[in-house]
Amino acid sequence: MSISENISRIKKTIPDTVTLVAVSKFHPAEAVMEAYNAGQRVFGESRAQELVAKRHHLPTDIEWHFIGQLQTNKVKEIAPFIQMIQSLDSLKLLNEIEKQAAKYHRVIRVLLEIHIAAEETKSGFSPDECRALLETCPLQNYPHVQIAGLMGMATNTDDTDQIRREFENLEHLYQEIKTRYFSDKTYFNTLSMGMSADYPLAIEAGSTMVRIGSSIFGERD
Ligand SMILES: *Cc1c(COP(=O)(O)O)cnc(C)c1O
Repeated sequence: MSISENISRIKKTIPDTVTLVAVSKFHPAEAVMEAYNAGQRVFGESRAQELVAKRHHLPTDIEWHFIGQLQTNKVKEIAPFIQMIQSLDSLKLLNEIEKQAAKYHRVIRVLLEIHIAAEETKSGFSPDECRALLETCPLQNYPHVQIAGLMGMATNTDDTDQIRREFENLEHLYQEIKTRYFSDKTYFNTLSMGMSADYPLAIEAGSTMVRIGSSIFGERD
């Protein structure tokens, strides 16, 4: 099936209220363009260098999301244009995003990445680290960063009960954080969870944003 057929098939299975991020990492600009021509406007990339290079060949009304591990020294490369950084996993990175966004007179939306999987290799804050960050960091010190919600990745397993449990835990944390720290902030509205293999479970658990790569673009090498 073609990229545009994949997109329309997936679109039919997700509610209008859920944002589809097409994850185009390791796929060329031509593949992004095919998705763009099918109406897709939100794309996710996981490497700063790859994103910067690809972006030059593509329309300027694409909304780019950064979804991979981001080194602080790479923030300046994407700060001029990035719409959302979904993989905020340290205070150091938050401080650098504020600094670079200020330099370009921009407000960058970010998601706090939460470690919900059983695998050690995945990154992100534990729920307690996330609470501690919000207790100790006054939001008014970050006028160029909007904390828009949470992001998480479930364990890569066939055990759907486990995946469902992990997504439900993240949804509960999202509601708690929203109530405790952002009750008067309408911009805190995004729960990013669900990938090709598990996005239907994520939507059932309350996801508002799914990040889908291989089901749209095919397998990566
Ligand atoms: C690669 C990636 C995805 C997309 O994964 P697929 O299984 O190809 O859909 C989603 N989220 C993150 C953080 C990723 O790194």
